[in-house]
Amino acid sequence: MPELRHDPIQKRWVIIASDRSRRPDDFSISKVPPSGGFCPFCEGNENKTPPEIAAIRNNGSRPNQPGWKVRVVPNKFPALRIEGDLDRRGVGAYDRMNGIGAHEVIIETPRHDENLADAPLDQIKEVLWMYRERLKDLLRDRRFKYILIFKNYGAAAGASLAHPHTQIVATPVTPLALARELNSSKEHYEGKERCLFCDLIQQELDSGERIVIAGDQFVAMTPFASRFPFEIFIVPRYHHHSFADSSDDMLHHLSVVMKEVFMEILLEISIEDLPFSMSFLCLVSCKLIVQQGIEKLLSG
Ligand SMILES: [Zn+2]
Ligand SMILES: [Zn+2]
Repeated sequence: MPELRHDPIQKRWVIIASDRSRRPDDFSISKVPPSGGFCPFCEGNENKTPPEIAAIRNNGSRPNQPGWKVRVVPNKFPALRIEGDLDRRGVGAYDRMNGIGAHEVIIETPRHDENLADAPLDQIKEVLWMYRERLKDLLRDRRFKYILIFKNYGAAAGASLAHPHTQIVATPVTPLALARELNSSKEHYEGKERCLFCDLIQQELDSGERIVIAGDQFVAMTPFASRFPFEIFIVPRYHHHSFADSSDDMLHHLSVVMKEVFMEILLEISIEDLPFSMSFLCLVSCKLIVQQGIEKLLSG
């Protein structure tokens, strides 16, 4: 059983695995092999993953058989375990609890080499739909305080693409960076009685300087203080409190903006040269933020 230990100096929780230690932001799964090699995520290889948790399937197809469009399975090498109690305890000046959490993989398509930019709109929409369903389900588990949906995409130029997938991690602790964002939002609200995110979005829409796409319901913009080249935020135009509460209509609009963002970026850089990470954050104050951080691989 992995353990969560609190560092009273850094004020953060660290996952202590029995064989090695990992920071909570260090989740990774074993490398998915490139095209040509065996891939457990490809259609037909369903018995090479743990049994599925959920799937969007064609009519009549059975669980853990071919015939799916989006499939969710537990991570084969989870950083945290789903079964058990937290068993929070103090150890002198320290705090610890059992390493309880969820670690799932959403396989976005049965096709090994279909990336998000090429995928038809319906496919993107179904993936977003599955994000929302898994989020709703995991939110029912009272042990979890934080659920992160994230995607890493990395393929050096010319190399084959790994099978498109997203990871979901639910943890019983709130990461420091998120706690900071919540505090900033709270302070802004306490001082002005307005939402920090709504204020920033309105200012960006007024100036237009950093707007990439202004959709009917979602706005894509570059942050004033970008941390990476091509860092892009996709945020709802109107105040909305939870990604889990997004309507089907919102998911449709979000998929349209996401696809447009990818097309825009592809005009600048080829997708093979563009490893990126994308994370969906759920905030309490302005509640839906879809953050899309895109980092260009700096080679030499
Ligand atoms: Zn594959
Ligand atoms: Zn707001």
